[in-house]
Amino acid sequence: MPDFSALPSKLPKGKTSIFSVMSSLAREHNAIDLSQGFPNFDTDHTLKELVFKAMKEGHNQYPPMSGIPQLREQLSAKIDHLYGVKYKVDSEITLTAGATGAIYAAITAFVHPGDEVIVFKPAYDSYEPTIKASGGKVIPVQMKGEDFKIDWQEVEEMITASTRMLIITTPHNPSGTVFSKEDMQQLEILLKGTDIILLSDEVYEHIIFDEREHQSASRFPYLAERAIICSSFGKTFHNTGWKMGYCVAPEALMKEIWKIHELTVFCVNHPMQHAFAEYLKTPENYLQLPGFYQQKRDKFLSLLKGSKFTSTPAQGTYYQILNYEKITNEKDTNFARRLTIDHKLASIPLSVFNYKQKDNKQLRFCFAKTDETLEKAAEILHKL
Ligand code: GLN
Repeated sequence: MPDFSALPSKLPKGKTSIFSVMSSLAREHNAIDLSQGFPNFDTDHTLKELVFKAMKEGHNQYPPMSGIPQLREQLSAKIDHLYGVKYKVDSEITLTAGATGAIYAAITAFVHPGDEVIVFKPAYDSYEPTIKASGGKVIPVQMKGEDFKIDWQEVEEMITASTRMLIITTPHNPSGTVFSKEDMQQLEILLKGTDIILLSDEVYEHIIFDEREHQSASRFPYLAERAIICSSFGKTFHNTGWKMGYCVAPEALMKEIWKIHELTVFCVNHPMQHAFAEYLKTPENYLQLPGFYQQKRDKFLSLLKGSKFTSTPAQGTYYQILNYEKITNEKDTNFARRLTIDHKLASIPLSVFNYKQKDNKQLRFCFAKTDETLEKAAEILHKL
């Protein structure tokens, strides 16, 4: 028998993601699952019908590598309409296997051994292993305080001759904070005149609250010229299991992304692409999303009034951070486990995303759930 345990791992410290860990713990203990981010309500029936229609019409073989032109045209028009920038349909838009597929292709295409990549902590968990698998070095910058602010001076100090890429997430997962126009302008000042690539993860672009405007990197010329912007249909149209996302980037960057995209999946789900191309013709399908999720956030927070949890309302995303220091001093990973097993409610402990796993006694709860589920969850939280 060969001894594969002796093989050098590309990710020796790699672990099963916290999302899989907490979701399977929730299943095992029959707990309400507010851990992994996915809606527990269905995607629009009209959209499902459009997929079936595309299948019946025979769109069941490989689509073009970067996606069908009708969908790329719709996306180009949507971005132009929302953010005032025209991405070239033939060379600057690519449909990917979820935004994760886009993030993987973007990092793998550009990060070489020894390259540095600046990542803001708490950071979504796919960035760092992908950087490391390419031999890159993660340069963490911790976001600060209750509202997870970025100290741009500190970011400036982290930039070196080896900085290849900087990754931002706005609206930000897991904190629920949103980058302001001033944040983006600060970033523009830092990156202007450099060759640093910006990877902008904007998968929650349509889940943003209290009249805020999404500050897409595409709106800022000195960011757009170097930005790979990733987005997701799953988050916007309640179908995370379809694994459909896309990225946009200047042609020179997209050419390199294609080389990795071709090697990993070559192309993505054909009938879904026809369905989305049709569905995007009705902008209300995504323009009503901020209102829809703001109602959920407000419902969840008002249900929690009078409990011992404290919070700052999420500015965007479908996650709400709750602080529990008034309840217990135990480690967030232990508390999240105990909450799942003993109280039947699953969440995500924030320390796993923080610099040096700092435990600020915070848990992330996904409120993309039916009102009934949110009510049951709040009932449990009130008892603590
Ligand atoms: N994006 C989702 C979250 O943050 C989950 C993604 C995943 O499980 N990989 O919960």
